[in-house]
Amino acid sequence: MVGQEMQEKIISLFEGYEGDVKFNEPMAPYTSLKIGGPAEAMVFPESIEAVAALVKRIAGGVPIFVLGAGSNLLVQEGGVEGVVIHLGNLSQGILTGESTFYAEAGLSFPRLSTVVEKQGLSGLEFATGIPGTVGGAIAMNAGIPKEETASVLKEITLVGPGGEIATLPREAIFFSYRTAILPQGSIIVSAEFRLQKAPVREIREKRFDLLKRRRETQPLSYPSAGSIFKNPFSALHQGEGRVRVGFSAGALITEVGLKGHQIGGAQISERHGNFIINLGGATAADVMGLIQLAQKRVLLEKGISLEPEIKIIGRGENNPLHPTC
Ligand SMILES: Cc1cc2nc3c(=O)[nH]c(=O)nc-3n(C[C@H](O)[C@H](O)[C@H](O)COP(=O)(O)OP(=O)(O)OC[C@H]3O[C@@H](n4cnc5c(N)ncnc54)[C@H](O)[C@@H]3O)c2cc1C
Repeated sequence: MVGQEMQEKIISLFEGYEGDVKFNEPMAPYTSLKIGGPAEAMVFPESIEAVAALVKRIAGGVPIFVLGAGSNLLVQEGGVEGVVIHLGNLSQGILTGESTFYAEAGLSFPRLSTVVEKQGLSGLEFATGIPGTVGGAIAMNAGIPKEETASVLKEITLVGPGGEIATLPREAIFFSYRTAILPQGSIIVSAEFRLQKAPVREIREKRFDLLKRRRETQPLSYPSAGSIFKNPFSALHQGEGRVRVGFSAGALITEVGLKGHQIGGAQISERHGNFIINLGGATAADVMGLIQLAQKRVLLEKGISLEPEIKIIGRGENNPLHPTC
């Protein structure tokens, strides 16, 4: 479908729609990098049932992109084709048992960390400084070294591509480092977490220490998308066997001398080699330029491929990784 045809199709899809929909909505304000062209349509469903009804209405007619807090996204200037579903209105959270907690997908992940702390529940301290939503944290299997979202999940409720609502146990989903393999075309609408009872003071101290460490090591006063690349692993031969060795993407970028390197308004942070910051007025092409430069230099000088952790979406000339969303 070409641009004009797609726009007409989208407008006709929303005829008589009673929910909140915005056409040609700039994405930059919805991302932590503050970059990105318009979404052809952005919708803000008010409930899980409304998400299901929306998916039925669209019924495969146009592409759907699910937006959390936009904290792991680079949106190209050409904008996003199809419908962006913004889940910010799904933000309820409730204690469901002695140590289980239910949260809707649009609830802020750091907020969830605060709420469960007050209930004396441990296991989500690591979420304190991860500025996403519950849905985004599950989709990305967000975490810190030795802790990740999958390990505290009990079950997940999804809206499938036909608008059906289903709850799956955590074991039914394959998770690995910063990855969740969800059933094709499904949207996470809520989840239940299994946590552990612990003294509130201990939970608070752990969260405080994690935040302190972040403030010391990350460029938090500038817009960014967190770590740009996944930390790579290599299989090295050692004697008769092979061992898996992990590298820090930030350290590799630092070693090839790119810290502080700038293209347009984007810069590889001087504070953290794996962060690209928006100094003001950066474009997606500026950020892509830095991504490609870091990949090229680390491959040439270290023989290691860097894979982006961030999701790169939207139409852009300079997007060999994901040409469309
Ligand atoms: C300063 C900073 C620090 C960060 N630190 C960390 C860190 O320590 N560890 C870490 O892992 N990450 C970190 N991040 C990255 C980011 O916060 C996480 O990846 C977060 O989980 C993304 O959530 P989000 O809601 O913003 O998702 P988005 O960026 O909106 O989306 C990311 C992906 O998830 C998909 N998605 C979102 N919601 C849903 C849903 N409901 N159903 C299906 N798919 C969905 C989107 O389609 C997209 O593909 C950091 C980011 C910043 C800016």
